[in-house]
Amino acid sequence: MGTLLRKILIANRGEIAVRIIRACRELGTRTVAVYSEADREALHVLMADEARLIGPPPAQESYLSIERIVEAARASGAEAIHPGYGFLSENPAFAETCRAAGLIFIGPPPSAILAMGDKTEARRLAAKAGVPMVPGTMDPVGTDEEAQRIAREIGFPVMVKAVKGGGGKGMRLVRDPTGLAPALRLARSEAKAAFGDPAIYLEKYLEAPRHIEIQLLADTHGHVVYLGERECSIQRRHQKLIEESPSPLLDEPLRRAMGEAACRVAASAAYVNAGTVEFLVGGDRRFYFLEMNTRLQVEHPVTEMVTGIDMVKEQLRIAAGEKLGYEQEDIRRLGWAIECRIYAEDPFNNFLPSPGRITGLSVPGGPWIRDDSGVYEGYEVPIYYDPLISKLIVWGRDREEAIRRMTRALGEYQVRGIKTTLPFHQAVMLHPDFVAGSVHTHFVETKFTNEETTRDGRHEQIAIIAAALHAYQRAQRPAPPPAPPSSAWRASFRPGREDSRWS
Ligand code: ADP
Repeated sequence: MGTLLRKILIANRGEIAVRIIRACRELGTRTVAVYSEADREALHVLMADEARLIGPPPAQESYLSIERIVEAARASGAEAIHPGYGFLSENPAFAETCRAAGLIFIGPPPSAILAMGDKTEARRLAAKAGVPMVPGTMDPVGTDEEAQRIAREIGFPVMVKAVKGGGGKGMRLVRDPTGLAPALRLARSEAKAAFGDPAIYLEKYLEAPRHIEIQLLADTHGHVVYLGERECSIQRRHQKLIEESPSPLLDEPLRRAMGEAACRVAASAAYVNAGTVEFLVGGDRRFYFLEMNTRLQVEHPVTEMVTGIDMVKEQLRIAAGEKLGYEQEDIRRLGWAIECRIYAEDPFNNFLPSPGRITGLSVPGGPWIRDDSGVYEGYEVPIYYDPLISKLIVWGRDREEAIRRMTRALGEYQVRGIKTTLPFHQAVMLHPDFVAGSVHTHFVETKFTNEETTRDGRHEQIAIIAAALHAYQRAQRPAPPPAPPSSAWRASFRPGREDSRWS
């Protein structure tokens, strides 16, 4: 498969930048990495064909600087920019600036990012497309009095949410009228700090729903297809930790209903490229539109594993103006895939970040195992960015085999020098409710904490996680000493690289 894109800049770092480089290398597209001063030795910098320093460690001055990134693209002669996820990926001004500078933005048009980035606007679009949604407001809420009135109408508990929200920020659960005013205050100030906009809206709070999302691809010729669903109910602080495809809950009729609803949402925003429509699904199997993410998602590999479609390559082809070249009925799914997000975090201490040097690393292998990593042995995980270091993805013929394979792979995975979420994942794979496919968004809270520790905000784990840690530690063998980083070793990551800083 050839592509029309000759050279692209990747406006990201870590595992997702590495993932994009890999797709480009297979396509014959040259890659330009950008990096901050904290990332001089990051894997994406070592692997890309070229690399450009764009600023100091704080993301505001590097990975979030539209000006510096567009300048790096111009100077390197890249034709297009892939934003990855996070950072500038859902910033309409960035997409617009790329376009104005004559660069292809590998993602949707700025108008679609703008519409879906405003959650009340997204709700209006979904309503117009006839897609059911969580009861709540279609406009931002003004005064506290108005909020009280609406909350009573919707009925407590309610969720206060940031209009420009993302990453679980600016979200507050309110169980009764007295809790509303303080929650509004907190959510507004958090939203202002995180998104520069204090606007909030209200939604009915669903008790223990599932989070199930539909992956879409849309080309510039008006074709939209859905690539099935991902179950993302294993979350902490409203952020995903484990994802799988398919969902244990869905059958073919429900999958089709949700898939077609997602396609209608995309069409209503004249959507192009890869996107995801997220839904909450109740115990009664009714589904409700939650939001649309206008970018590649962290959990895209589980979809790739069951459909055989390389989504990053599809993104590049779509951006180059190619047709999808297949219809909905051509999309086939086979087997079951699970992803565990491996964060540099301490699962025994409320998932506190655990940056530092990786002194030993041994990654799993064998059939149907995929390790999408952004790190290597000897690498120091910086304090400045998201602590996701890797994603472990497995495929199995069915869910049982996938769980067994994941358990085996997690047992082989060893990271020394920093704490990671590996033992947490081990414990989940062994948990009877997870094994039974009976999951919801409060699974982690309810199964891995006890009341006492939840009340004071600390998340000490119950016996099962301790037992899993024991098993995990017992299984560990001494890791080999870290390899001294030699220039030859570094160079081996970068075949054909022009820049000679390392040689
Ligand atoms: P963000 O954009 O900040 O990630 P989302 O709207 O996607 O926020 O919600 C993230 C998670 O928060 C969901 O997966 C779910 O666990 C929880 N959540 C959001 N809205 C509701 C709701 N109305 N009822 C129950 N849980 C919710």
